[in-house]
Amino acid sequence: RRSLDAQCFLLHYQAQVTGDGRVTGAEVLLRWQHPERGMVSPADFIPLAEETGLILPLGNWVLETACSQLARWTQRPDMAHLTLAVNVSAHQFRQSDFVEQVLATIRSTGVDPARLKLELTESMLVHDVQEIIEKMFALRSHGVRFALDDFGTGYSSLSYLKRLPLNQLKIDQSFVRDVLIDPNDAAIARTIVALAQSLGLGVIAEGVETAAQRDFLAGSGCHAYQGYFFARPLPLEGFEQFLRQA
Ligand code: C2E
Ligand code: MG
Ligand code: MG
Repeated sequence: RRSLDAQCFLLHYQAQVTGDGRVTGAEVLLRWQHPERGMVSPADFIPLAEETGLILPLGNWVLETACSQLARWTQRPDMAHLTLAVNVSAHQFRQSDFVEQVLATIRSTGVDPARLKLELTESMLVHDVQEIIEKMFALRSHGVRFALDDFGTGYSSLSYLKRLPLNQLKIDQSFVRDVLIDPNDAAIARTIVALAQSLGLGVIAEGVETAAQRDFLAGSGCHAYQGYFFARPLPLEGFEQFLRQA
């Protein structure tokens, strides 16, 4: 709670790239710069933030910061095309005024809604799916895009896939990690790509760490990537520098 007031949170930007090396945008990843503990991983504090409800002001801050950044890039011809993917937690999405909040942030920052991609996780799709679908449609009617994060790791019915207004499936890094070693992971990765293609969705692989993984994915028809092989999550200045070199 104190850290929110003291502005101890910051965003890192991890590039999302295409097969020919073009940077299409980034995923924003929250970082907690703790006065004593140093940089704390979101995996360690997001669950606590969810439990305490602090994820709401925190999530708002992430969304506002990401949209303000997008609006600033719009002024720069070399960056105006970039998209930002923002992770949204279940707790946030369930708020009755979530749609209004996102739209208010879009309006106040003047950002093009089509540059914003909200990442939902499969685990959100267990309860109240109808409500989630309605909110997604409401936001999509304004141009906001959606990706399904950590795809394949959670409990979700494939029948939701055709009901949700999704733009992209994100192949989870747990499948990418051993894609060259474990035939099961290879089969799952290929199947996710095929599923995305047949549903008319985009697909992106996360956690790509080597050229060989990238090549395997490309051979399977996946041409969008995110991972250390291309770029680590970087502070804003580092990301902008990476863009200039890319
Ligand atoms: P995620 O959305 O699936 O994010 C991908 C995670 O994989 C990030 O960890 C990223 O740093 C890491 N990663 C990226 N490339 C590689 C790679 O090549 N190899 C490996 N081993 N890892 C890679 P991070 O930043 O620690 O975030 C962990 C999770 O915390 C995220 O998973 C997301 O679920 C959550 N999170 C992060 N930022 C936010 C946020 O602003 N709001 C919410 N609600 N959750 C967030
Ligand atoms: Mg994500
Ligand atoms: Mg993920």
